[in-house]
Amino acid sequence: MRAVLLRGRGPQGVTVDEATEPGLMPGRVRLRMLAASVNRVDLYMRDSGEGITHTLPQIMGVDGVGLALDAGPGIAPGDLCIIYPYEFCGSCPHCLAGDQPLCLNARILGEHRDGTFAEVVSVPAASVLRLQPGVDIAGAATLGVGWLTAWRMVFGKVTLQPGSTVLVQGAGGGVAQAAALLARMGGARVIVTTSGAAKIDHFRATGFEVIDHAAGPVSRAVLDLTDGAGADLVIDNVGAATWGQSLRSARRGGAIVTCGATTGGAPSADLQRLFVRQLSIHGSTMGSLTEFRRLIDCFEAGRIVPQIDCILPLDRTVEALARAEDPARLGKVVLKIAPWPGEETK
Ligand SMILES: [Zn+2]
Repeated sequence: MRAVLLRGRGPQGVTVDEATEPGLMPGRVRLRMLAASVNRVDLYMRDSGEGITHTLPQIMGVDGVGLALDAGPGIAPGDLCIIYPYEFCGSCPHCLAGDQPLCLNARILGEHRDGTFAEVVSVPAASVLRLQPGVDIAGAATLGVGWLTAWRMVFGKVTLQPGSTVLVQGAGGGVAQAAALLARMGGARVIVTTSGAAKIDHFRATGFEVIDHAAGPVSRAVLDLTDGAGADLVIDNVGAATWGQSLRSARRGGAIVTCGATTGGAPSADLQRLFVRQLSIHGSTMGSLTEFRRLIDCFEAGRIVPQIDCILPLDRTVEALARAEDPARLGKVVLKIAPWPGEETK
């Protein structure tokens, strides 16, 4: 089968190649993959992989959708399915509490084991969920990492009230943009920061309040927009470049949630501000199976529509990875691995 193999670090370490197709194994379901999306972690694996136990060569890719080749609980061959990216043990205290992202024995596709940028992928039956036939394949391919991560950041840490103010830093990125859309779905007033005329225009045209972070301190603009109060919840997956402004943009008693540190992981903690203003900081990564099901329900009901930057074939994965780190992109980069249902005859 064709697969994207990471053989070494950097773009030159990524090859689209022949790989051994996984066989049928008890308790697992194989999917004939249709699409997967490019996530920040794919770039991290390409360029470093430090701190993640794995061996090269390894198949890249964390999320995706495909057609079941095997039967599983509630799954018949031919069903359109989506992958939950964790292989979790199901028996540790966190799994028993339904919080699979904290599993003590978790292995993540594309990080600790072969991933989803392949024509056939084998995953535990417990990590395969059925999708309604006819859903948008590209959109579905973005749910497993980007949207699930955003879901937990927006809904999993603090309780939003209707009219709560949510600030989303760097909203052009996949997770941040999903967070902005989810916060709005949840009834919040959403302010986003971004830069560049195209992205500013896009967010204004789609009804968001927009702060151009290149135009001056974000916190000043947030305070202006909120009559000096600040945001109830700040979503920040940018890291050191925005962290100080995120702390300054939160209202007294407000919360900041982080799921990433692309620009650096050790900004000032600003402890005085933290305790005087009684801020809370939450780390977040991925989401539980229950959260994933809720997200999928919203997607299938048409309540969320993922923004797709571009769709590229598997053979152009090197280019897709480069596009995913291009500041000009808007939304998710999707890999098309096989013809999608309804297209075969075209
Ligand atoms: Zn576990």
